[in-house]
Amino acid sequence: MSPLKIINPANGRLIATLPSDDAASVRAKFRAARAAQPAWAAWPLRLRLAAITRFRAAIVAHTEELAQTLTGEMGKPITQARHELKGLLPRIDFFLKATPSVLRDETVFSDRKTALIERITHEPLGVVANISAWNYPYFVGGNVFLPALLAGNAVLYKPSEFATRTGLSIARLLHASGVPNEVFVPVVGTGEVGRALLRQRIDGVFFTGSVATGKKIARAASGRLMRVQLELGGKDPAYVCEDVDVSTVAAAVADGAFYNTGQSCCSVERVYVRASIFPQFVEAFVATVKGFRIGDPTDDATYIGPLARAAQVEVLEQQVADARRKGARVFTGGKRLRGHGRGHYFAPTVLIDVDHSMIVMRNESFGPIIGIMAVRDDAEAIALMNDSDYGLTAAVYTPDRQRAEAVLARMEAGSAYWNCCDRVSPRLPWTGVKDSGIGVTLGREGIRTFTRPKAWHLRAH
Ligand code: NAD
Repeated sequence: MSPLKIINPANGRLIATLPSDDAASVRAKFRAARAAQPAWAAWPLRLRLAAITRFRAAIVAHTEELAQTLTGEMGKPITQARHELKGLLPRIDFFLKATPSVLRDETVFSDRKTALIERITHEPLGVVANISAWNYPYFVGGNVFLPALLAGNAVLYKPSEFATRTGLSIARLLHASGVPNEVFVPVVGTGEVGRALLRQRIDGVFFTGSVATGKKIARAASGRLMRVQLELGGKDPAYVCEDVDVSTVAAAVADGAFYNTGQSCCSVERVYVRASIFPQFVEAFVATVKGFRIGDPTDDATYIGPLARAAQVEVLEQQVADARRKGARVFTGGKRLRGHGRGHYFAPTVLIDVDHSMIVMRNESFGPIIGIMAVRDDAEAIALMNDSDYGLTAAVYTPDRQRAEAVLARMEAGSAYWNCCDRVSPRLPWTGVKDSGIGVTLGREGIRTFTRPKAWHLRAH
């Protein structure tokens, strides 16, 4: 397998060349993990908790260096990289606190007369593959490998080829925190290495990435009886009612759409606004977008950085061209930004006069671009918000909670937001409907998913 070139997306410069895994090394890593996992599962839970507690301390101690690595290889603005690392801490805290009670044995029936006891224990799956995305590597990776490890699994972790140095840093810190090298195993490479990983006799695959790859993973896993969990893309809508404070909500929704340069699975990707406030809303929204500082992601003042992947620039250009052809107006942006050397920058873009015949309102954009559409009433907003192959999150902005909950109850989405968006809580299950995926991370279900229950029927005589 040819070595992996790590390129800085802000300037096109080579950062590092790393050796890639190949079929033989993946097989060897799997075998070592299989051999090491039972001993790890036999560790008392408090020792596994202690190792992850040390990992937390290591993240705190190395935040700046880790943030710089992340910014260098995927272009996340540095303040947002620091924010991601800080945001990992409450997730770790949640897993440390919730895991003991989720994994606790349960006696669900006990009868003296018949001397019968029924008990449930929660056993690890065994060796699981974690094939991960680059956009929030600490969040989407940590949602999987932290509870998987705590539950006693060995994890073969394939970071995205666009966040490999981050993945290797995570491995280094976990190992230094006491997780054995064969229990958390980084697997380096592109999709081909991911395919090799899926050929091993793993007990589950936990994937975060695009729908197209998710479907390939599901196909590769078919015929093998293992747990398959897919966290995929979104085309997340926000609905703005006529009774809001327009400028506050415009600024909040713009942040939800453009944070991380629009490269979040739960970025707002479509906005529906009541017709009576549409002009004021668009004006305030565009004013916010024009205020976003674009530039070098290592600069503290930068809010919009480069796109992590060069190819996405063309995807966005095509979305704009298709929308224009079908009658959309580009209010601001609409094109790639030159003047950043070989960096892949796209101007923050706001489109109006959009409709659902346009690709920009149907396919995930995963970049700094948004379509805003006027709607007559709640019924039209609901119909349009649900008119999507995706179903990750949906947001409603109004001071009227009852109205918001009525709309949100009808959303075909895993997460429902009232007066907020682009938000993830470790306490709540993270899940998608339709093409946004199958399975759950976070919340208590997101710990349990790394276990299988064993049913004990115990009769004393
Ligand atoms: P991607 O699908 O291109 O790649 C994801 C991972 O799969 C990478 O590690 C890649 O090397 C690997 N891979 C590629 N082909 C493979 C194959 N055939 N077999 C096995 N592995 C293979 O996705 P990406 O560009 O890294 O991530 C962006 C996507 O992830 C967006 O669609 C985004 O919405 C989604 N995402 C979803 C969530 C969520 O929680 N639902 C979170 C973050 C990102």
